[in-house]
Amino acid sequence: MAKRQKLTHKQKRQVNSTLKRRKANLEVDSRELAGLGQPEAGRVVGRFGQHADIEDKNGDISRCNIRRNIDSVVVGDQVIFRQGEENNPASKGVVEIVEERKSVLTRPDYYDGIKPIAANIDQILIVSSILPTLSLNIIDRYLVAAEDVMIEPILIVNKVELLLDDERAFIEEQMAAYRDIGYRVIFTSCKTREGIEELELLLNNKVSIFVGQSGVGKSSIVNQLLPEAQELTNDVSANSGLGQHTTTASKLLPFRQGGDLIDSPGVREFALWHLPPERVAWGFVEFRDYLGGCKFRDCKHLDDPGCALRAAVENEKISEERFENYHRILVSMSENKPSRNVPKKV
Ligand code: GDP
Ligand code: ZN
Repeated sequence: MAKRQKLTHKQKRQVNSTLKRRKANLEVDSRELAGLGQPEAGRVVGRFGQHADIEDKNGDISRCNIRRNIDSVVVGDQVIFRQGEENNPASKGVVEIVEERKSVLTRPDYYDGIKPIAANIDQILIVSSILPTLSLNIIDRYLVAAEDVMIEPILIVNKVELLLDDERAFIEEQMAAYRDIGYRVIFTSCKTREGIEELELLLNNKVSIFVGQSGVGKSSIVNQLLPEAQELTNDVSANSGLGQHTTTASKLLPFRQGGDLIDSPGVREFALWHLPPERVAWGFVEFRDYLGGCKFRDCKHLDDPGCALRAAVENEKISEERFENYHRILVSMSENKPSRNVPKKV
């Protein structure tokens, strides 16, 4: 996942004043838009081609065009929009304003630089499976990526019905280390439904995405949580194999017990992209207390003298495994430097 560009105070003020000005202009515009409804709040539940499906506060959905002066509209966006003409099913509404996003996932795009793919996500559910083995290294990579975009991660360990008692005890112990540093961990099984109700409670009133390697059981879990008619299909890979820019729809799907799922091809590719080493270290939450405490400012946290992180590992304040995974991530990032530099949009 590309690094989130933080806005400076000045930029934020500019964004806010632009929003205010556009809201004021709505009154003027309304004369040209005779027949369309009054401006109202909604959110984007579908996005494809030139259109967006907007849900109003009653849960009704209308298909809308998008004003040309809007940079981007993605699923999860809160918007101001007008419904199409009443009694005219062919008339589309229009999205007027996209409200400031409280979180956004982006990806590098060859043509457009950094491209937003979904907004206002509350939590990232990182799914792992105990088969063939539980990879803490992969869990740590996803955790760093989630911390980087500043969206709360939750860990799901799936297929647990396959564990024998002593194997289960071992994995419980491994995951207790994650609970100790503040993460929520849920054990699930799609076969016995263990953990599914606990998960439903966590999803209620939140916008969530599920990430994790192929085969860990993401679609199986999600399909248990959606209403019957909404089964996820894995039609994405079939399209993207063509090397074209596909216009596969992104959607916000309601869970049976409340809350929403963002289902978007871009979101499914959520992973750890290149980050500066300091940002990777910051992505390990329990390191934060020690960052800046090393003797040398450019400490690599290897065998540098006076390394505060290494001291914390020796005093068992930081787990050795997490510390090793930190270094593994840095090594893999320097080995897989992106082949082209993606220009950043400001
Ligand atoms: P995805 O690629 O992450 O979406 O994974 P899928 O949902 O397609 O699942 C991959 C395989 O794991 C399928 O054969 C599922 O039936 C199986 N699977 C999913 N959840 C469980 C589980 O809790 N227990 C077991 N034993 N198999 C599961
Ligand atoms: Zn150090």
